[in-house]
Amino acid sequence: MKYKVWVHIEQVDESLDDYQDIGEPISIGEFGNLDDAMKLRDKLIGTVDTACPKCGADSNQREFVDRRYLDCEAIQIIYTCKGCGSEIIEEFTLSEVFIDRKE
Ligand SMILES: [Zn+2]
Repeated sequence: MKYKVWVHIEQVDESLDDYQDIGEPISIGEFGNLDDAMKLRDKLIGTVDTACPKCGADSNQREFVDRRYLDCEAIQIIYTCKGCGSEIIEEFTLSEVFIDRKE
């Protein structure tokens, strides 16, 4: 069993009830297990499942701040913990998950 994570762009005009797919969906990762696939999805949409390292507040106690792309090789997701105010950075390396990468 394989699990793929897809990115898909849709153009939406709700007033006309018009929905158009832009291009084809592309797979941005392929995994041998569902947990890893869900981890990538959650990272991309800015949710993580880990407690704050400083105060232990859980992941719904933090506020999404920004998403930084580092040379298309890694994504950093930055949060502020609402419990203690500290900055939490989750880094995720894309090259680790690309199976069809060119090198
Ligand atoms: Zn905290």
